[in-house]
Amino acid sequence: MSKIAELDRIAISVASHKLLRQLLKENPKLEEVMRNAKNEIEALVGVRNWVLETLQESPAALAFYQCEHADHDSFQALRWQDYSAIRILDYIDNAGREFEDLNLRGEIAVSNPIKLIWLAVNRGTGGAKPFFFKDMLHLFRQFTRESVRLVPEPDLVEEWMGRYPSGLDPRIIKLREENRARILNTLIDYMEQGEIQSSRFRFDPGMSREQKFLSTLEWWQDHRFHLSFAVRSPELLNEMLGNSLDPDTIKLLERAKEKGIPFFVNPYYLSLLHVRVPYFAIGADLAIRHYVIYSTQLVEEFDYIRAWEKEDLVEPGKPNAAGWLLPPGDNVHRRYPDVAILIPDTTGRACGGLCASCQRMYDFQRGHLNFDLEALRPKESWKERLERLMEYFEKDTQLRDILITGGDALMSSDRSLENLLDAIYRMAVRKREANKVHPDGEKYAEIVRVRLGTRLPVYLPQRITPKLTAILAEFKARASEIGIRQFIIQTHFESPMEVTPESRQAVTHLLGAGWTLTNQLVMTTAASRRGHSAQLRRILNDIGVLSYYTFVVKGYQENNFNYAPIARIMQEGAEEKIIGRVPLDYYEAIRRFPMETESMVENIDDLRRDANLPFLATDRSVLNLPGVGKSLTFRIIGITRYGRRILEFDHDPTRAHSPIIHRIGKVVIIESKSIAEYLEQLEQLGEDVAEYEGVYGYSLGETEPRIPIYEYPPYDFTVTEELTNLELE
Ligand code: SF4
Repeated sequence: MSKIAELDRIAISVASHKLLRQLLKENPKLEEVMRNAKNEIEALVGVRNWVLETLQESPAALAFYQCEHADHDSFQALRWQDYSAIRILDYIDNAGREFEDLNLRGEIAVSNPIKLIWLAVNRGTGGAKPFFFKDMLHLFRQFTRESVRLVPEPDLVEEWMGRYPSGLDPRIIKLREENRARILNTLIDYMEQGEIQSSRFRFDPGMSREQKFLSTLEWWQDHRFHLSFAVRSPELLNEMLGNSLDPDTIKLLERAKEKGIPFFVNPYYLSLLHVRVPYFAIGADLAIRHYVIYSTQLVEEFDYIRAWEKEDLVEPGKPNAAGWLLPPGDNVHRRYPDVAILIPDTTGRACGGLCASCQRMYDFQRGHLNFDLEALRPKESWKERLERLMEYFEKDTQLRDILITGGDALMSSDRSLENLLDAIYRMAVRKREANKVHPDGEKYAEIVRVRLGTRLPVYLPQRITPKLTAILAEFKARASEIGIRQFIIQTHFESPMEVTPESRQAVTHLLGAGWTLTNQLVMTTAASRRGHSAQLRRILNDIGVLSYYTFVVKGYQENNFNYAPIARIMQEGAEEKIIGRVPLDYYEAIRRFPMETESMVENIDDLRRDANLPFLATDRSVLNLPGVGKSLTFRIIGITRYGRRILEFDHDPTRAHSPIIHRIGKVVIIESKSIAEYLEQLEQLGEDVAEYEGVYGYSLGETEPRIPIYEYPPYDFTVTEELTNLELE
């Protein structure tokens, strides 16, 4: 007997029976179809006819359903009920399709929800779980218009936002001073006992406790202190948190250590965590806490993590999943024709901490990224290798944008960074010079954008020193003269509580150096709570940072705990982010922002005031596809018996791609968590799930358009259409 036939014989539970009864009671027509159908095929045909009949009233929905690549207007024309009708029809069209479920280490998942209902009704089998039936209940309520979409009023969104104080709140600042004192006192104890030591940060003989404390307070301003004294063990973590972690968490963290999951929490970032929940900020630091404390799923799955992005798996000499040939080594990553990522062989391969839902956990597992800062210092050979890597950018016809990341771009030393920027400058000059001999239409794309990917303004704002700022300012001044126009620091604030006086000062320095700061938020469960992300956008705008991306959590079961379903990201976009949508009339004003970065705060404020917006929703919500590129253009085409949804994505049509996407076609993912499980988790986080009413219904998506500030500046010549470094075979 096949595995699927075996599963079909599994009896459903009492809870599933009760939900099924409710489903049939609310939908007599569904019950009639199910009871009259002699087999699953008749059930599929019966439901299909019923749904198609109702779709006759909505030609726009019918056209959308039948269209392979629907456009913006047809998406906009859909009514709430249409979403559900299209979903049911997509379920039927994909009935019986099998998928490799990488959440379950490659087990085969099959989607056939109508058959599961038919089996449950007629035989009491099919093995569908309550989470599945809850999803079905909501689906048919939407279809029969029993439930309607209620978009919250802006005032209500503002009320939700108000639940999340920022780290600039004086009461929070005070609490963190207490946290700092506790952490420093623990460190002094450890240093006195000789359990931790540093050649740079040492007490003079005969110093009193008070003098020692004053020394550590001074050291606190030095990023090297935080790197030297970062916590690398669960015991010290607990001690620095005033022994406030519960025994289960400690056990889990010990298990994480045994498994080889790195620990690296620097004292500054640790001081953002509260040991007691402050009455005025209940749950406010959860998004931070969930970044530091590993989940059971991450610990259990650590040995089995598979790269989410296929481009990360490169065989020497062969093109990557997007068809790009890359220089040898692991220094260049590339998905698109116009941009490539450069990962230097420096301490920039490390981060200022390890985010539990890191997209590169795969690389941490392989040991490619780590916190052994000594071992990561650049070798002699790096200089030559860097020149060869620069040649790759120089000789490529389309590359115009270089994103330095890691790890973390600003973890590199000042000297490494200076060398790197200088190499980029010289490469950009050579590329420009070489272009002079190419006729129009055959010219190569010249470098117009340089980006640094860093979370240090959040993890370690002390790293943004006057020296670093001067290096960045000097590079900008020189590079502007040779046509580089966009200088961007891409950072990653996850919570309003990460915006502190220190991080604000770091941002101010970077803006003063002429660089634009943009933020990439990862929509973890804690960050997905009502109002949380909207508040983060507002607080970031207050300090001069523009939001850039809101990412769906990547990965499989290892990230299950932090995973917020895509339906919630769609809901957040439609019901919360929308109150900051920038009217088209203001696009021209935003376009000028990067030219006056030192006035960024005032310019953002002026625009918010003129347009009456609480924040500027300049970010796009996207998923990094496990194929090539980013997108949020999707349809839910299936669901497992566990209620986990199966989504099919189209590529983002708004940007240039490798031609390989025409061969790859659509990309399918299975979510690691059902909506019902997600809501239960929110409830455990203290949320009122009634506020999330409607989340089940967001079953279709369209990638948002890019705000012009994020477009490449145009050339005054025509770039060749030839693609180099590409091999499609
Ligand atoms: S800073 Fe970025 S690369 Fe580093 S651990 Fe966090 S998410 Fe991963």
